[in-house]
Amino acid sequence: KINIHWLRRDLRLNDNNALFQALSENTPVVLLYIFETNNPINANDKANFIYNSLKKLQKEVEAYGSSILIKQGDVFKIWESLVNEFNINKVYFNEEYEPYTINRDTQIKRFLESKGMVVKTYKDHVLFHKDEIVKGDRTPYTVFTPYFKKWMIEVEKFTSIHYPSEKLIKNLANYEANDFPSLKNLGYVEQTLDLPEINLDAKLPSYELNRDFPFLDASTRISVDLRYGTISIRDAFKKAHNLNALKWIAGLAWRDFYHMILFYFPHTENKAFKKKFDFVEWRNNESEFKAWCEGKTGYPIVDAGMRSLNETGFMHNRVRMIVASFLTKHLLIDWRWGEAYFAVKLLDYDMANNVGGWQWACGSGNDAVPYFRVFNPTTQQEKFDPEFKYCKLWIEELNTKRYAQPIVEHTFARNRAIKTYSLAGG
Ligand code: FAD
Repeated sequence: KINIHWLRRDLRLNDNNALFQALSENTPVVLLYIFETNNPINANDKANFIYNSLKKLQKEVEAYGSSILIKQGDVFKIWESLVNEFNINKVYFNEEYEPYTINRDTQIKRFLESKGMVVKTYKDHVLFHKDEIVKGDRTPYTVFTPYFKKWMIEVEKFTSIHYPSEKLIKNLANYEANDFPSLKNLGYVEQTLDLPEINLDAKLPSYELNRDFPFLDASTRISVDLRYGTISIRDAFKKAHNLNALKWIAGLAWRDFYHMILFYFPHTENKAFKKKFDFVEWRNNESEFKAWCEGKTGYPIVDAGMRSLNETGFMHNRVRMIVASFLTKHLLIDWRWGEAYFAVKLLDYDMANNVGGWQWACGSGNDAVPYFRVFNPTTQQEKFDPEFKYCKLWIEELNTKRYAQPIVEHTFARNRAIKTYSLAGG
């Protein structure tokens, strides 16, 4: 008999809650990863990141005579075949919070239980999940500030929470999977990813002061690692807590908040949190959308952000807010178009954060900027990139005749946006 730990957004061996629980039992544990062909976000760059992370893990577990079982295909069919292939007693995994993943996990749990197996699920991906930080009457918060107040009090306990899975690795099954597949065999193309070194000690002390200036590159760039669990969120929190990096810790609270919101309000995946915003008469001009995607709007900060996204799979947070506001207000293009574009291009794409960020910027979300507050892309650039240092990094033709004229005039666009939004009931 074996137990299985299903790796998903927790691609690490240390401080891994479900893995720790699995390894604490007497039954040998097999690690499994499934490249799901039915998951809509299955892009090449993300697959490369996952693959490289799994390869690292494979090296680590090989030292213990174990190996990671890699499968690819329809996740439901794969589980059906695993049940025949192995004598499985229990299946462990860490929870996820998106509508698709919740539905998948519910179905798989039901299937495995119907075959007599025990399924154990744990919290690992967030600090607090769905029902831990709620109002007195157990209903969810929909506004960030009171949520954050409570979150900040409770979060202290994470200074001492650690799941030492790394100490139990010897309990992995003595198991040799057939050859570790190549990326090519999995149907992906090898790609060089733009991944910076993560160094919280270096970044956190000046984070609060510098984080809004994109050319300073002062944010930690940890988002991809948090998305795929290659860094433990508890470890990251502890480090920030030791350095008293409160502003950065607040970002983790936003992340928990958006995951909680998506859990309780799954319609926000593709509908406005505030329903009246579903009635905004979007212009949805396709050539303007193309210009935005390609970074050719004639507004340097918008164009620099989009080009950095296209070239690296990453965009600075301040710039994400500016480009999202520009698309939904200046161009009056449906936030879902922008959200979908980010989903494909961002290596750190995470539905809860992305939907949360988009709805915040367009004004339809919880605790969003009011719809009548329209970011001025020129003043944003003057404030956060006064010497065009960031813009010049990405726009070679800036200050030449080749650079695009503004696609729309700011005051005109601002008035048009306010009028259109207010017609939808604002
Ligand atoms: P840091 O500033 O170093 O922050 C550390 C971590 O805290 C981040 O990695 C993230 O996990 C969390 N965090 C910080 N701010 C936020 C926030 N406002 N909302 C949620 N989490 C936060 N983040 C994603 O991880 N995936 C997305 O798909 C995503 N899409 C976004 C779309 C829009 C329109 C906007 C405005 C924001 C989006 N964000 C998203 C949030 C934020 O921009 C990124 O988390 C951040 O830029 C990642 O860089 P970093 O790791 O250097 O961040």
